[in-house]
Amino acid sequence: MAGSPQIVRTVPDLRARVAAWRAAGETVAMVPTMGALHAGHLSLVKLGLERASHVVASIFVNPAQFAPHEDFDAYPRGEGRDAALLGEAGCALIFAPGVAQMYPPGFATRVAVDGVSGPLEGEKRPQFFGGVATVVAKLLIQCGPDVALFGEKDYQQLLVIKRMARDLDLPTEIIGGPTVREADGLAMSSRNAYLSVEERKTAALVPVVMAQAVERLRAGVAAEAVEAEAIARLEAAGFGPVDYVQAHDGETMERLGPGPVGAGARLFVAAWLGKTRLIDNWAV
Ligand code: AMP
Repeated sequence: MAGSPQIVRTVPDLRARVAAWRAAGETVAMVPTMGALHAGHLSLVKLGLERASHVVASIFVNPAQFAPHEDFDAYPRGEGRDAALLGEAGCALIFAPGVAQMYPPGFATRVAVDGVSGPLEGEKRPQFFGGVATVVAKLLIQCGPDVALFGEKDYQQLLVIKRMARDLDLPTEIIGGPTVREADGLAMSSRNAYLSVEERKTAALVPVVMAQAVERLRAGVAAEAVEAEAIARLEAAGFGPVDYVQAHDGETMERLGPGPVGAGARLFVAAWLGKTRLIDNWAV
């Protein structure tokens, strides 16, 4: 059902809309985002519509998940464009709170998820998963959706949110959606807008290098060797630093290798290209 979604900015307004749907016996899906929407986000709206009567998308650039040196101020914002795209995708309601609505003066609570949040992004961005878990817990409590959709593009984040929802007994089913890619295989990301034309061409090497690395892992080559080769190829093409290319278990996030990896492995990459940090992951 296309049309311009209503935008609400306060928790009481959000709850009033959801309560009206509930009173009519309807179900609700939520898609949390930071805006600057692309086809990856919209695929989650579509999945949500397959699972519930209505989709609520949130747009909130969450300061709690950015370190002081990171790109919070530069992060792309454009509510009008986002609202139009969400409307076309069939989203009924946008929750776009201000920072003071989410973190009023005196705010003092933080949700910390151990275990799956430890390696990779947890090591490279120590503030990140605490900020994500806190804001997603708040959004799910504020909205109370039946299901919430998150992208496998941020695979470790998806595991952290699943763990958090289970551990806190949140009555929302957490569902992952497949990574949506550009024609050349680059994972769609709001941060791709930072890439220069030259960098954008180079970025297409990430899926190429990773697909070949996954093939080598499937063929039984030792993870240590595959990871080192992939890092060397990315560095030779101008990426740097490569934060990691690492195989981890796709459920526990336990580090795999140095030998061959078995079923259930995933290969994760994070690499800088100029001022842009690209992340992606593949099932092995
Ligand atoms: P973000 O706005 O970057 O916080 O992302 C909001 C949601 O969209 C998260 O659940 C992401 O994992 C998901 N997402 C981002 N990029 C993609 C993509 N290329 N394909 C599928 N989901 C994505």
